[in-house]
Amino acid sequence: MKKESLWLGKAKENGGELDKICDLYKKCLDEGKTERECVALSVRMAEEKGYRELYGVIERGEKLKAGDKLYVVQMNKSIALFVLGKKPVSAGMNILGAHIDSPRLDVKQNPLYEKEGFAYFDTHYYGGIKKYQWTAVPLAIHGVVAKKDGTTVSISIGEREDEPVFVITDLLVHLAGKQLEKKATEVVTGENLDILIGNCPLDSDEELEKEEKENIKANMLKILEETYGIEEEDFLSAELEIVPAGKACDLGLDRSMILAYGQDDRICAFTSLFAMLDVENPESTTCCLLVDKEEIGSVGATGMQSRFFENAVAELVAATEGESQLLVRRALARSRMLSSDVSAGYDPLYADVFNKNNAAFLSKGISFNKYTGARGKSGSNDANAEYIAQLRKVMDEAEVSYQFSELGSVDAGGGGTIAYIMAKYGMNVIDSGVAVLNMHAPYEVSSKADVYEAVRGYRAFLRW
Ligand code: MN
Ligand code: MN
Repeated sequence: MKKESLWLGKAKENGGELDKICDLYKKCLDEGKTERECVALSVRMAEEKGYRELYGVIERGEKLKAGDKLYVVQMNKSIALFVLGKKPVSAGMNILGAHIDSPRLDVKQNPLYEKEGFAYFDTHYYGGIKKYQWTAVPLAIHGVVAKKDGTTVSISIGEREDEPVFVITDLLVHLAGKQLEKKATEVVTGENLDILIGNCPLDSDEELEKEEKENIKANMLKILEETYGIEEEDFLSAELEIVPAGKACDLGLDRSMILAYGQDDRICAFTSLFAMLDVENPESTTCCLLVDKEEIGSVGATGMQSRFFENAVAELVAATEGESQLLVRRALARSRMLSSDVSAGYDPLYADVFNKNNAAFLSKGISFNKYTGARGKSGSNDANAEYIAQLRKVMDEAEVSYQFSELGSVDAGGGGTIAYIMAKYGMNVIDSGVAVLNMHAPYEVSSKADVYEAVRGYRAFLRW
């Protein structure tokens, strides 16, 4: 059962495909730092491959046939892509699922304040983070401001070389004696995760009516008005996300790894998307599902618990086989799914939280988790043995390297995914994914060999 490093075999000899895939992956990470950006990017890439928006196709009364490529976007934050198979949809689909939201800091609805010569944006963190990791690193602002006139302003500040960045300050070590005695969960409090956005007051001659003590805030508002045409109240209907600034990088002297923000779970999302975009004329209908809100429980209209996917499948069945609820249920129940999310890669520096025989190692291929969960598998999907056996066969026949793992030692912690939600339809679902180090940190570590192997594995699954 001992797996050897992919670098000793196919990761070295692949005719340059590994580098091509990893370069594209890094570009996608740079362009997709929020769920909205990931959806926009996916739509663009899909349309280049001939995908059409499903509801538009139905509205225009166009006939659907095998081989057709379609997508559905849910509120700009989740997307489902389909390629219609030769078999009817009700025969079941091969579904790849992953999430495109990542831990970050969200700007509050009343965010802007001034204090003792500085202006800040107040934030509320999203997903599980070690708060202290987000101080003293360059940050960018990505998102949208929706205005009452119906327009939406897209914002991205802090990525280009000629743009400013932002920061959350930390206490200088010289005065941090007391702070450093605190528990790590309390060293930086959630309410103190406010990003520094300015220090320069508005020239008081310009707007004499402004109170002097709010002059820096006034200057921020002036800049926002001039640059983006937004005013303070517009923050009420904004979704602005604070993410680490900068691009995905090669990691290591050997350039064997990638250091980047948001690899949980975009490493699975983009590799799934790449495999999906390669699909032409499949036997079974294939699907790639990239969803929002996994990090906070798959809730809301754009999370996996929303019915948007079921609705899309119902539309597909209606358009191809007739309006039958029974056929929709069959389509879902007969589907099989790889619910992909990152695995906790074995980290020798923190060996005590792993069970080495059941840990996912970097550069050893796709990682399958029969179950996830915490405290006795609670909240897990727990894939069926028979399904796993079939999956092993598919992967072995395609010569895809894989490993079976758990998220850490028993009772060391745990985590959930979207697998259990899709399993509710009675379909076979297994957790799978790619191992990363320091998951949920501002910058996460992955292996290029695993990125490549994930694409190969997803391709094999979609051909099943
Ligand atoms: Mn995840
Ligand atoms: Mn996560």
